[in-house]
Amino acid sequence: MIGIPSKLPEVGTTIFTVMSQLAAEHNAVNLGQGFPDFPMSGELTSLVAEAMQNGYNQYAHMNGVPLLRERLAEKAAKLYRASIDPETQITITPGGTYAIYTSLTTVLQPGDEVIVFEPAYDSYIPNIEVNGAIAVRISLQFPSYSIPWEEVRAKITAKTRMIMINTPHNPTGSVLSESDIEELRKTVRDTSILILSDEVYEHLIFDGIRHLSVLRYPDLLERSFVCFSFGKTYHCTGWKLGYCISSPALMKEFRKVHQFNCFSCDTPKQVGIAAYTANEQAYLSLGAFMQEKRDFFRELMKATPFQCIPSHGSYFECYSYGHFSQEPDKDLAARLTREYGVTAIPVSAFYKNAEDNKVLRFCFAKKEATLERAITGLKNFQPV
Ligand code: PMP
Ligand code: GLN
Repeated sequence: MIGIPSKLPEVGTTIFTVMSQLAAEHNAVNLGQGFPDFPMSGELTSLVAEAMQNGYNQYAHMNGVPLLRERLAEKAAKLYRASIDPETQITITPGGTYAIYTSLTTVLQPGDEVIVFEPAYDSYIPNIEVNGAIAVRISLQFPSYSIPWEEVRAKITAKTRMIMINTPHNPTGSVLSESDIEELRKTVRDTSILILSDEVYEHLIFDGIRHLSVLRYPDLLERSFVCFSFGKTYHCTGWKLGYCISSPALMKEFRKVHQFNCFSCDTPKQVGIAAYTANEQAYLSLGAFMQEKRDFFRELMKATPFQCIPSHGSYFECYSYGHFSQEPDKDLAARLTREYGVTAIPVSAFYKNAEDNKVLRFCFAKKEATLERAITGLKNFQPV
């Protein structure tokens, strides 16, 4: 056996795969890994089938099907008053994760520092470290999961290359406010610090709150990579299609990396989505649709001892249990799967040092019957 030194020696298998596998083994209701269990739009699948039948089966343009990029620029103008050139500022990618990885790889030199807020989506820190850069971790303030801006400024050094933000946030569902954006602007003004803004949950925002996309702020956009996912917008996480929007100068460099990694993305899906974007209601109604599920789940969870940490976005909500048990969250998540037939994600998995605030993340992007089945299991829960 030929061995190699690992580029990611501390990294194991992602928690989403681990928990989904455990859920499958125990036939548990999977509220762990984030994906909807209800059908996506039949109109969109028909448009993709039609695109295939109409011969859209060869390589797409390297930067993405032009019509799709035009439609996305129009959408950014309408929703965020952003003036985006589809020719130079948008690239279609095989998913949001790839857009994030490519942004980081485009920018990072060995020894660069990237400020990351924890809990952090689990790909961020490995994506930084595989590029030889250093993740400077800052804990969001528990339990509000808000950004401690003074600490951010204190941790900036000559090597700080980038700050990563994510709103609505995975795993906590927290969203950035106007004052957070002002703090961000103030913090990066007069510096060359770049921003990676993960906005894959842009439409999954509730309680009348407006999504504060970085696209709204030209002074931020000129230094940002903004990453999106069609999987989240159209209930098709398995399609692995997304996009990145940036300034022309940054996007030029992004495409140099992209062209030799992926080159171009699935053609018929891009053609189908380009046609489907005409249906604005499909994404404009998403917040209300998902809020109903969140509220339904929140109400059901009142019959369990878990305590809601209320949030306003994404398709996750976090629940704490430190008031009745000190069981480590990873043990509890495994035990819930095995003994009560319900799978959640332990939030310590989103911290490099496995900081455990005794919190589990539940995905409520499910049919009501699925959520009800989960509660039937959780209602019987006994702490150890
Ligand atoms: N960022 C966050 C915060 C996510 O939750 C996800 C979901 N997988 C992604 C990025 C990546 O999306 P995709 O599945 O399109 O790669
Ligand atoms: N984003 C999804 C989640 O947080 C999972 C994506 C994945 O499995 N890589 O659950």
